[in-house]
Amino acid sequence: MTTQPQTAWPENTVARFLTVGGAIVEVTHEPRYSSDTAPTVTVARCGGCPADTISGWAAYAGSAGADSTACTWAQTHAETCRALPKPA
Ligand SMILES: [Zn+2]
Repeated sequence: MTTQPQTAWPENTVARFLTVGGAIVEVTHEPRYSSDTAPTVTVARCGGCPADTISGWAAYAGSAGADSTACTWAQTHAETCRALPKPA
């Protein structure tokens, strides 16, 4: 396997999914409330349409279950969303 230069993802980015419309669904760790000092939820947000989902972390399991839920949503959404990404 050859080494390829990759743009580093932001530290809070868990995964990215390419939609059929060419937009990116981004899965990130974010604080739920502005008063939170650390991430407490996993958010999946489509860059092509307003769709998103927020999964709260379980106190005993951390982000694992929420990441799985958000990634499953992102995968399903990416397969069906035909919204085009907004021009930068
Ligand atoms: Zn979408």
